[in-house]
Amino acid sequence: MKCARMRYLMGGLVEVEADADTRHAAVNAVETAFEELKRVEKLLSKFMPDSVVSRINRLASEEPVAVSPEVFNLLRESLRFSELTEGAFDITVNPLIELWNDACLKDRVPRPHAIREALFRTGHQHIRLDEADHTVFFERPDMEIDLGAIGKGYAVDRAVKILRGRGIRKAMVSTGSTIFCLDDTVSWFGVEHPLERGEIITSMPLRDNAVSTSANSERYQIIGGRRYGHMIDPASGYPVAGDLLSVSVVTTSAMIADVLSTSAFVLGRQAGRRLIARWDCAEAFIL
Ligand code: AMP
Ligand code: MG
Repeated sequence: MKCARMRYLMGGLVEVEADADTRHAAVNAVETAFEELKRVEKLLSKFMPDSVVSRINRLASEEPVAVSPEVFNLLRESLRFSELTEGAFDITVNPLIELWNDACLKDRVPRPHAIREALFRTGHQHIRLDEADHTVFFERPDMEIDLGAIGKGYAVDRAVKILRGRGIRKAMVSTGSTIFCLDDTVSWFGVEHPLERGEIITSMPLRDNAVSTSANSERYQIIGGRRYGHMIDPASGYPVAGDLLSVSVVTTSAMIADVLSTSAFVLGRQAGRRLIARWDCAEAFIL
């Protein structure tokens, strides 16, 4: 028996489906998965004042902030990905994100000195993680993190783990941009054209795999009549205006798919392809 439910979480619609022997078991599994997704959102959302990330953003430039092993591991992973992508993936871009949000409200592109100032507060190399006491410290004043490019993937992996733990063999968890299909048979994931809603341009097989898509087509800002996407190039401080429309990455973990799709988008076609090629079990559709 199958149960499929949808909720508003993490800034969008999240869907969970599970197949189990009884309807009761399927409903229970889906609800437990949603509880886990909600727990992770409460931990990682920079928009929730009580989240760990908000606490880090308030305090870590002043003093080392102790965090749970779970959050510490996620921060460690984030820094590892920064190194693997030569800084294209960088959770410390929040000052730049805020700057560009503010620019949108004022309808004026930030001045170069404001970008330089925000860049000074950015940089994964300025995060100090202390392995002994599980603390995080920012070496520069007013640094802030945003887990928007990794958090949903992590949450999806956690929910899938819960479903697996309940003996579920066939399930799907989707945040829209990141999907995990738990299945012993192949299902097909259709890649939508980033500019033509509903038009499927290709399909990718998913079998116990995740897919994550990064694109600028749905989330962007208009400043002075020009479109700016939501991905930031940490090297320049400007929104990525590269040569890509979208990147979809299929791999065994939703978190890695999430990180790789964002990173490849920031890196652009050539360097993005090289990054994906380095992963044995990842495939990408780059448009
Ligand atoms: P995604 O939709 O997974 O590609 O993630 C995009 C989100 O990640 C943005 O909306 C920002 O919140 C955040 N972000 C933007 N630029 C970067 C970057 N260079 N590295 C890490 N996260 C970023
Ligand atoms: Mg991502």
